[in-house]
Amino acid sequence: SIVFLNDSFMPMDQAKISPMDRGFLFGDGIYEVIPTYNGKMVGFAPHIARMQEGLGLIGINLGWTEAKWRDVVETLIEKNDGGNLGVYLHVSRGADVKRSHAYPENVTPTVYAFAFEIPPANVADKSVTKTYKVNSTEDLRWKRCHIKSTALLGNVMHYQQGFAEGCNETLLFNANNELTEASACNVYVIKDGVIATPPLDNQILPGITRLILLDLLAKESSLKVEERPVTMEEVENADEIWLTSSSKEVAPVIEFNGKAVGNGEIGDVWLIAQSIFSSGKYNY
Ligand code: PLP
Repeated sequence: SIVFLNDSFMPMDQAKISPMDRGFLFGDGIYEVIPTYNGKMVGFAPHIARMQEGLGLIGINLGWTEAKWRDVVETLIEKNDGGNLGVYLHVSRGADVKRSHAYPENVTPTVYAFAFEIPPANVADKSVTKTYKVNSTEDLRWKRCHIKSTALLGNVMHYQQGFAEGCNETLLFNANNELTEASACNVYVIKDGVIATPPLDNQILPGITRLILLDLLAKESSLKVEERPVTMEEVENADEIWLTSSSKEVAPVIEFNGKAVGNGEIGDVWLIAQSIFSSGKYNY
């Protein structure tokens, strides 16, 4: 595949970075994933805005405009022949001559982007939709989960915990036994037709799929959505549980900690939400 590194496009096997790159040594960087279906991007502007915000929060001054990012992303999609692609963007602080914790002063950020195949867009049809089984554990990551840091070991370890037990995700709960998110997605519980999801704070990533879904539900449905703390008990007693992320879209969970969620099948509220999401997602 064709990738982008610093200021040019090249085959992936020709892309080389310094072993002193702080992205490699410290996980000192910010990343983003933008889904595209048949070449059409979902949420380009909010994805770039979140990345610019993250770069600002960790003091990386790259200085790229949204237009420059658009040019790189669109060219990358074109060079990889479109289809259904996730576009991965990565900015690290860059390579220094020494390994020192302090932010170096004269360093050029490293910019890397590649595209990878993602599943076709979800459709609002229970018979073809992928379902998820999840378990749970205490959220042992750091307290800056709103920053989309490339340092993902905490998330990787939580994901692996579920994966090793035959699950496709791990739901995370803070020390008060309140839901935060999953290792790579945001989480929703549905009870009696009401959708509840944890509020945006330092415990979760402000997902772009979450942003789009909540905005569309507010505009296009009469479903009630509550952004508030969600307890373990509510997760255990939910009629439906959903996950959202750029590559999963709105994904129904049918098993939580070895027990069926609701009746163990994809729920009716999911069907409404997915159909609204499918029809509106390209407008962001
Ligand atoms: N939460 C975490 C920890 C994530 O890594 C991700 C995405 O990768 C999400 C939530 C969902 O974010 P988005 O909808 O922007 O993909």
